[in-house]
Amino acid sequence: MLKRTPLRKKTRNPIKRLKDRADRAFQDYLRYKHKGERCESCGVNPIEVGHHYILKSHSNILRYDESNIFLICNFCHSKITFYNAAEVEDKIVLKRGKKWYNWIHKAKREHLSLTKKYLESKLEEFEI
Ligand SMILES: [Zn+2]
Repeated sequence: MLKRTPLRKKTRNPIKRLKDRADRAFQDYLRYKHKGERCESCGVNPIEVGHHYILKSHSNILRYDESNIFLICNFCHSKITFYNAAEVEDKIVLKRGKKWYNWIHKAKREHLSLTKKYLESKLEEFEI
């Protein structure tokens, strides 16, 4: 009999699983904390997602840092993902200012390992 490969295999890597849980907890925490606020980009729709300005894959240190998060709606987020990231991001970058911009580009160069202990502390921090 043929062995079937599941389309989305659930990872057995404990660090990866912990990272996924912490990522979800962070998004839930952001939505909860900023409930009732409007999208930073369009100013119309409610906040639905925390977009990482510096991509998660580019910085561990900014992965759970709110300064790196643009609180936006799904519509604006899909623009970033599928259409024109700069159109949405540039507007918010301007609003945040040069000081923030310089800080974040410096911060992303700092190294941090996502250890079990660190991820567990983040999970605890974001527990609603
Ligand atoms: Zn929006």
